[in-house]
Amino acid sequence: RQSTFAMIKPDAMSQLGSVLSELTEQRLKLRIAGLRLLQLTTAQARHLYNEHQERPFFKSLVAYITSGPVLALHLTGPGAVGRWREALGPTDSAVARTSAPNSIRAKFGTDKQINAAHGSDSVAAAHRELSLMFPEWDVS
Ligand code: ATP
Repeated sequence: RQSTFAMIKPDAMSQLGSVLSELTEQRLKLRIAGLRLLQLTTAQARHLYNEHQERPFFKSLVAYITSGPVLALHLTGPGAVGRWREALGPTDSAVARTSAPNSIRAKFGTDKQINAAHGSDSVAAAHRELSLMFPEWDVS
């Protein structure tokens, strides 16, 4: 059984019910082991996305992700990391609408920044992000 960190981003929070329904609609077989409603501080956002700190879009990304509440999710199940990434679709929602029209980013996102949801890109990243966002839990 694998764990991943998922996050519904501020732009998709107004459609939260529909986004969460994708877990069953896409038959992902992932269980919500924990969830938390958060308003990320700038410091938390910089920490979460620290791998992108040298990228030109970093400041804008931090502003976007702190612009409203987010839902942080601990998802578990076989191949959780890959299954959730697959359900999300490509980073850019505009690309997702042509290449993966049933994906979460196609349905609920806007563009390459405002893209509805996040998913860890590896097991190591999942553990890092889960321990950051659910510090009271031992995710190992
Ligand atoms: P995530 O990590 O959120 O699941 P990802 O792994 O598909 O997304 P990354 O390349 O890790 O994409 O980028 C992290 C986030 O930064 C993206 O989800 C998006 O919100 C934003 N982003 C990525 N590329 C760009 C870009 N070129 N311009 C603006 N924002 C971007």
